[in-house]
Amino acid sequence: MKPTAALLNEVLEEVRPLIGQGKVADYIPALASVPANKLGIAVCYNDGEIIQAGDSEEGFSIQSISKVLSLTLAMTLYEPDELWSRVGKEPSGQAFNSMIQLELEKGIPRNPFINPGAIVVSDMLHSRLCAPQYRMLELVRELSCNPNIVYDKVVASSEMQHSDRNASIAYLMRSFGNFENEVMPVLTNYFSYCALKMSCVDLARTFSYLANKGLPLGAKKRIISQTKSKHINALLATCGLYDGAGEFAYRVGMPGKSGVGGGIVAIVPGEMTIAVWSPELDQSGNSVAGTAALEKLSERIGRSIF
Ligand code: GLN
Repeated sequence: MKPTAALLNEVLEEVRPLIGQGKVADYIPALASVPANKLGIAVCYNDGEIIQAGDSEEGFSIQSISKVLSLTLAMTLYEPDELWSRVGKEPSGQAFNSMIQLELEKGIPRNPFINPGAIVVSDMLHSRLCAPQYRMLELVRELSCNPNIVYDKVVASSEMQHSDRNASIAYLMRSFGNFENEVMPVLTNYFSYCALKMSCVDLARTFSYLANKGLPLGAKKRIISQTKSKHINALLATCGLYDGAGEFAYRVGMPGKSGVGGGIVAIVPGEMTIAVWSPELDQSGNSVAGTAALEKLSERIGRSIF
């Protein structure tokens, strides 16, 4: 069953009382000022139809959702062997910015959806592209069918000023030989990707290629192969929500990716892409009301990959 706007509104009203139970990310000061009561959802069908409710057209910081875009871009530039020798495919069961496994596993991050993994992927993009930030923006504008998407420079520089942990992660990988470029220029790019400002509608459109075997919305050519699209969805289902990935699979049952801006994207392969936004996060850094909205919607429309 296709959700109607009325159903989406109903779901949002059911989860709205959860606002107040989480905490807006404040370790990036520019994010701390985002109003906690924002709540939006958008569904994009593979035929391009958009259904939306709440604050679905308001831009927010996509943060770690950008890790999926970096991986996608890297997959277009590297052979699988090259890529997967630098980063693993296993769930971490640890916080997104944890360094524990990185030390034990000799500078090879567990997967591309935690900070170490996305930072190493950003290093790889830096090695193969002459203007990685420009290429990323071009890709996102294409995928979202929105030429107005920009990097939020205030968020990016706020994160740069509080970058000690991510810089430590990068230097640790460099000490193990798993880093090719200077750390700071790579981190600058990584923070910019995280600071992409997009709405739920933009995100639902953008990730439509993962619901459609690698074919972006309105495009004639796949951006990645059907097999690579399957690979990304598998990694999203196992690693997309960090140490909350199991709980998310249990409750929502869809490949998904969250960000500390409060956004979550979820994929129903072959059918649709869903994006939700509510800034308050749980202990793992995943949106509280966003997860609940996806859980309710998956039940109402009877969709799950399990
Ligand atoms: N930019 C954030 C960071 O590197 C992204 C984290 C997230 O969204 N989980 O800490």
